[in-house]
Amino acid sequence: MPRPRSRSPAAAKSKGKARPDVAAILKILDSLYPDAHCSLDYSNPLELLIATILSAQCTDKRVNMVTPALFAKYPTAAQYAAARPHELERDIQSTGFFRNKAKNIRAMAAALVEHHDGKVPGTMDDLVQLPGVGRKTANVVLGNAFNINVGVVVDTHIARLSQRLGLTKHTDPVRIEQDLMRLIPADRWCKFSHQIISHGRAVCMARNPDCSHCPLLPYCPEGKSRTAKAPAAKGH
Ligand code: SF4
Repeated sequence: MPRPRSRSPAAAKSKGKARPDVAAILKILDSLYPDAHCSLDYSNPLELLIATILSAQCTDKRVNMVTPALFAKYPTAAQYAAARPHELERDIQSTGFFRNKAKNIRAMAAALVEHHDGKVPGTMDDLVQLPGVGRKTANVVLGNAFNINVGVVVDTHIARLSQRLGLTKHTDPVRIEQDLMRLIPADRWCKFSHQIISHGRAVCMARNPDCSHCPLLPYCPEGKSRTAKAPAAKGH
């Protein structure tokens, strides 16, 4: 079946739907966050997998406070799998949702021992088969611990900024990821996610994005709309 022909940028603009200038956005992100990287502390794929599971509904800073003692106490998947449930829950309690996280970690570690000789597999297919591991966690582990880009991490920051920047109109993480994979060069996926997360924390916050000081404003439909609605709010 022939694929529909995409509109030229000029044609799209004339309909009020200018295509995102991805190259310009990436260039600005590079200048703002040249060293963006994973903010979870880890030294091997298992540690990153555990830290990523713990980071659900929790700040990376808090996770990094918990993991040094945790990683020292449970250096292997077999040790997590054999951990006493209440003890593991206590060990990770301050990251929140600790009962569910402890259950997932024990089940995930047991699957690593049973199917992967205790090692974290380096493929998306194998990772998403592990209990409690979805595409987002798998993308974090593959992109950062294995340097393999098979997808784009879509967390709350990336979903929000991708919508605001006009990179997607979807709200479903899978659809957002598909749009980003079409727009962003594959070798940029991992870095792009860290840069966008950094920008989401520093400038483009959920409630009050600082659009008037945002270098991405010229390329951001949401920012233009917000600044147009609040002209010269501050006269001094
Ligand atoms: Fe976010 Fe505003 Fe910047 Fe757009 S212009 S990326 S909405 S802070």
